[in-house]
Amino acid sequence: DSFDAMGLQENLLRGIYAYGFEKPSAIQQRGIVPFTKGLDVIQQAQSGTGKTATFCSGILQQLDYAQVQCQALVLAPTRELAQQIDKVMKALGDYQGVKVHACVGGTSVREDQRILQAGVHVVVGTPGRVFDMLRRQSLRADNIRMFVLDEADEMLSRGFKDQIYDIFQLLPAKVQVGVFSATMPPEALEITRKFMNKPVRILV
Ligand code: AMP
Repeated sequence: DSFDAMGLQENLLRGIYAYGFEKPSAIQQRGIVPFTKGLDVIQQAQSGTGKTATFCSGILQQLDYAQVQCQALVLAPTRELAQQIDKVMKALGDYQGVKVHACVGGTSVREDQRILQAGVHVVVGTPGRVFDMLRRQSLRADNIRMFVLDEADEMLSRGFKDQIYDIFQLLPAKVQVGVFSATMPPEALEITRKFMNKPVRILV
């Protein structure tokens, strides 16, 4: 199996190969295509399996680059992880001209507002800062079509449940949802039941 066989845009393939990936990992083989088709996807996988590139590719394939509006939102439990995802998204989407911003706590709110105002395709962030940006309407939810929860179990164990629910309420009802989690505790299952539509389940 190869990245070539996934029907990905040429510029996305260029980004993947330039990043140094040659062959898809198991989770990438099974998870990228369903995501690019717009399906809701639950992927139970540990970190280290290549999950980041799975959802980044799924998002980068579906963005409308002519529209510089936030179309995809990724939540992660820590600043470090959000910043790491931001880097991977920027690298893989470099040839497509993707604009990504990391919204995390401990940084300037004004600076976030300035960058969001200037226009991005994707926001990656921690639940607190992202909710803050949505609440202030510095981040507009209207055009968000894809929503990914990375390390969902970890976010829930850090007490982000209410903020995740609040964010879901602000997003368009038809949003595509991807949940990535090493384990599936009851609170994570509840999210999948409440907010996902016939999800594809992938266990790696
Ligand atoms: P992740 O599970 O997304 O945190 O990725 C774990 C590590 O595997 C990271 O260092 C990635 O750069 C690397 N990686 C992910 N996918 C591939 C691939 N298809 N080929 C080689 N390395 C990869």
